Amino acid sequence: MLGYVSFVGAGPGDLGLVTEKGIRCLREADVVLYDRLANPRLLRVIKADCQLIYCGKLPDRHMMRQDKINETIIEKARIGKKVVRLKGGDPAVFGRVGEEAGACQMEGIGYDIVPGITSSIAAASYAGIPVTHRDHSASITLRTGHSSEETNEENITRYEHGDTIAYYMGVKNLDHHCQVLMRQGFSPETKVAVIEWATTGKQRTAEGTLPTISNEVIKQQIKNPAMTIIGDVVGLRDQLKWFEKKSMFGKRILIAKSSAEESGLERYFLDQGAEAYAFPTLKIAKKPISIDWLARIRAADNLLFRAPESVAILFEAFCSEGYDLRDLPREIYCLSEKTKRVLLNKGILSEKITRITEDMIQVGYETKQESIEDETNLLLTHSLKYDARFTEIDQRMLHEETWETVIFPSKSSVDWFVKTLENYGIEQLSQLSFAYIGERVKEYAEKKGFQIVNEEVQQELGLGKWKNTQR
Ligand code: SAH
Repeated sequence: MLGYVSFVGAGPGDLGLVTEKGIRCLREADVVLYDRLANPRLLRVIKADCQLIYCGKLPDRHMMRQDKINETIIEKARIGKKVVRLKGGDPAVFGRVGEEAGACQMEGIGYDIVPGITSSIAAASYAGIPVTHRDHSASITLRTGHSSEETNEENITRYEHGDTIAYYMGVKNLDHHCQVLMRQGFSPETKVAVIEWATTGKQRTAEGTLPTISNEVIKQQIKNPAMTIIGDVVGLRDQLKWFEKKSMFGKRILIAKSSAEESGLERYFLDQGAEAYAFPTLKIAKKPISIDWLARIRAADNLLFRAPESVAILFEAFCSEGYDLRDLPREIYCLSEKTKRVLLNKGILSEKITRITEDMIQVGYETKQESIEDETNLLLTHSLKYDARFTEIDQRMLHEETWETVIFPSKSSVDWFVKTLENYGIEQLSQLSFAYIGERVKEYAEKKGFQIVNEEVQQELGLGKWKNTQR
């Protein structure tokens, strides 16, 4: 049977600016081909056996060529796969969806096109510029600024342009386009904004007029991806800008992870305008649980959950044996707030403890870092492994960005951080100063040789506040 292809718009960058339908396609995909401009954090929803193919530029290789992309899409669909082609912004706005969908159509392969928010409109809004306005602009034109030899461009007049013009891919030829527009009758007073990495915590905006903007962009070293917005509406930015005023805007924060779950901290910082990235991307490898162990737990007086993931895994095994909640020991303990929350969601109140007594039956995960002296009372439900499909993405995010601070939410996150930097060969990040959650984590990280951020920064990050909202 033939597969199916979905061309999905990933939106301009901010994680929330993608459609529900797009996310559903990603969840169901067998193969995802994605670009450099599609936010890689979106890929975390894919199935455990979904294949990821990067079509952007890699440090050591060239971009995947367009004919090779078309070929791969068709080859995968032919063998029955559900393929998602994930593109930054909208797939049909300078996204070559015409060629790729055309290739599917020729082969008789079914497809849909899931629109996304295109970067011109998003960049303008996130810079506080409404692309139309009753008093200032009744139309907008989307143009490519890629080529300086645009044949038809020289011949149009001021009035054939929209009131607002958005140039995609236009940083390199910016001055050329500005000169042409002035020759066509645009006033030299016309305002221009160039917005780099719009809608992300890395957003930067250069402002000027047609004759001055090019120098401003060079001065600020604005690079691609950047969006040029030209027209009177740019003048509203002074009054309407909002994103750049967010409390964490401009901060660059890494979050060290030690679980396979989504990082609540990453979401918290992104929502406040920071550039935040949680890594490494880990997955759970479940271990078989014997019937003897299940019977032993059923007969025990107490049970300690050492990890949040152990809860679901144990429950699954427990239920498949015909047991339920009522067969669990009376006393349930845990080591973290997170595990406590997971248990509460199952309807179980647990007590968080710091000292483990010998008689406790424990369930947890295998870790090389932590040695547990007596393992006779310990059931291992799973181990955590790198999700190898994300190695390239994690490395790219660590290499390509500049980071200021790393947050350690737990002791095990410190260990994963060290191990990951070593595995990926990214020594320089071990110089980052860290913020932390909890005194024990602070002591541990200091012992491991990390430099702590100053008290002011720790306060500014509001980790205490965040922790309280998690209860
Ligand atoms: N299909 C995409 C455009 C692809 S062309 C869309 O609809 O947005 C690539 C160009 O898009 C870049 O050169 C840049 O001009 C623009 N672009 C994409 N994402 C951007 C972002 N986050 N900020 C600014 N410009 C962006």
